[in-house]
Amino acid sequence: VLDIQNLKKNYGSVEVLHDINIDMKEAEFLVLLGPSGCGKSTLLNCIAGLETINEGTIQIGGKDMTQTPPGERDIAMVFQSYALYPTMTVGENITFGLKVRGTAKQEQQKQLKRVAEILQLDQLLDRKPSALSGGQRQRVAMGRALVRDPQLYLFDEPLSNLDAKLRVEMRAEIKSLHQRVNASIVYVTHDQIEAMTLATRICILKDGYIQQIGTPDEVYYRPANTYVAGFMGSPP
Ligand code: ATP
Ligand code: MG
Repeated sequence: VLDIQNLKKNYGSVEVLHDINIDMKEAEFLVLLGPSGCGKSTLLNCIAGLETINEGTIQIGGKDMTQTPPGERDIAMVFQSYALYPTMTVGENITFGLKVRGTAKQEQQKQLKRVAEILQLDQLLDRKPSALSGGQRQRVAMGRALVRDPQLYLFDEPLSNLDAKLRVEMRAEIKSLHQRVNASIVYVTHDQIEAMTLATRICILKDGYIQQIGTPDEVYYRPANTYVAGFMGSPP
């Protein structure tokens, strides 16, 4: 569903992503893992079209993204900050993306019902975001992505604003969501435990280089180098 070849990305004269190659199958949960500043968000933003790339290709569903503006890419992104509209209700927040695309009212309501059920937001649709808990806000942010039913979901540290207990709960929710809707997800985190729990494959980045791509077991038990071993806390 996602094919990245020989991608390079510069900010000015500084190359921050070097020769990135990723081949992601449908329904995979691919976690981009690495320390702060290694290029995770930049890579996600390149996939989303929020950043231009300097070299290489990105294909989503076999379609070349270089010629596809962000608004026409079949993706939905969930940001760390949620970015909910404070003056809109939960329901309006969730359907906003459909509304701007000119989706018929009836279809909007149908999709809203489906997504509210999946995320257990049925009782909260008329509330404003300010009257929600952190976890509920996070679910609304996911609802906005889910309602679009895209080929590919992009998550940038969606749980980092939550307290530890809620983070563990939401992790389980996201995992079950992935299984229920068979979603293809690229998920950014710097948290190894989160990566190990959620991923079908983990892509470990350091200084803009991919160190290893593999299943949680592979990167943990068969780390490609000492950096990966150290980062994953692999047994000696
Ligand atoms: P974090 O875990 O802290 O969010 P990250 O892995 O998402 O980190 P990026 O935000 O992708 O890291 O940043 C990668 C590198 O690119 C860093 O060295 C950063 O300073 C640099 N960078 C990011 N955005 C810009 C920008 N707009 N202009 C110049 N340099 C940038
Ligand atoms: Mg980031």
